[in-house]
Amino acid sequence: MTMPSPERRAFHEFVARHRRILLTTHVNPDGDGLGSEVAMALWLRALGRQARILNDSTVPAAFTFLARHLPIETFEEAAAEAAFDATDALIVLDVSNRQRIGRLAPLLDRHLVPVAVVDHHASHASGFGQVNVIEPEASATGEIVYGLIRESGQELDADMAEALYVALIMDTGSFRFSNTDSHAHRMAADLLTHGLDPQRLHAQVHSHASAARLRFFGEVLAALELLEDDRIVVLEAAPEQFQRHGLVGADTDGLVDMPRNIVGVEAVVLFSEVEPGRVKVSMRSTGRLVVDRLAAALGGGGHAHAAGVSLRATRAEARARILPELHRLVVALASEPRP
Ligand code: 5GP
Ligand code: MN
Repeated sequence: MTMPSPERRAFHEFVARHRRILLTTHVNPDGDGLGSEVAMALWLRALGRQARILNDSTVPAAFTFLARHLPIETFEEAAAEAAFDATDALIVLDVSNRQRIGRLAPLLDRHLVPVAVVDHHASHASGFGQVNVIEPEASATGEIVYGLIRESGQELDADMAEALYVALIMDTGSFRFSNTDSHAHRMAADLLTHGLDPQRLHAQVHSHASAARLRFFGEVLAALELLEDDRIVVLEAAPEQFQRHGLVGADTDGLVDMPRNIVGVEAVVLFSEVEPGRVKVSMRSTGRLVVDRLAAALGGGGHAHAAGVSLRATRAEARARILPELHRLVVALASEPRP
């Protein structure tokens, strides 16, 4: 194994210095954020630390099985205040933008808690911790956590391996996305030696769709628009559709990925108006367009090929901010041959 980077060494020293450690991830947590938290909490416990997980938002049904080893708490003012009083340090996973930890962010202002950030997003590369392990080349935050555990000399157990596998498959789209590389596959191969059942895990995380959600996807997909000479797909979801199907913002998960397979498409944008005047924009590139700078310019972020931003705007206003920028990116591509 190569020598740990100075940032990783600083992280190991951070863990050695603190006994009671609180972990958190971004609002509306995904499999990478949650799997990274669970694996890291189990590792910290194996090292003799107290570890507790507290997030802004609830755990989606697909991932509640990860919480069978240890509770994943959801923000509640009094309990969160007490958790901050009773901790020596905070580790923030899969996010390096302070605002994205949601209601925990104001608590950080009132409690002088040392922070370590472990993340793979490039858009806030400096991080807001005393220690920042930010590695944009990692396919998932779980891949960094896996490296940290191995460097510590601590044995990976079956439960840690399961949580890390969930982190890896969710962020790589089960090894389909452009962030998939030999490191991701080597990590998966090693995790499988710890007795995982990949078929069962895939079923567990992908078998939580409801009929309502599928009908909603059907409606939104049926109305897809092709712009820019069929190179940009635009999807819209209206407040009325969320209401009629009884769904929330998190239920759009996976929707924006579906039209990526239309031949010739460079990018997909989903404008999700969850409530009137509040639009979540999700963007996906099929590999040539870089979309995170566009998201970051509007206050969001993400990765080169998967990024997002929340806007106080109607769908029409959000379109007016995003689509001209995408037009510019597509024009810039025009000089390159289409693959
Ligand atoms: P999604 O479109 O699935 O919500 O997010 C795709 C990627 O963009 C994820 O890596 C996520 O972290 C990032 N992202 C989505 N929304 C926001 C946002 O409002 N702010 C920031 N900084 N990143 C976001
Ligand atoms: Mn991630």
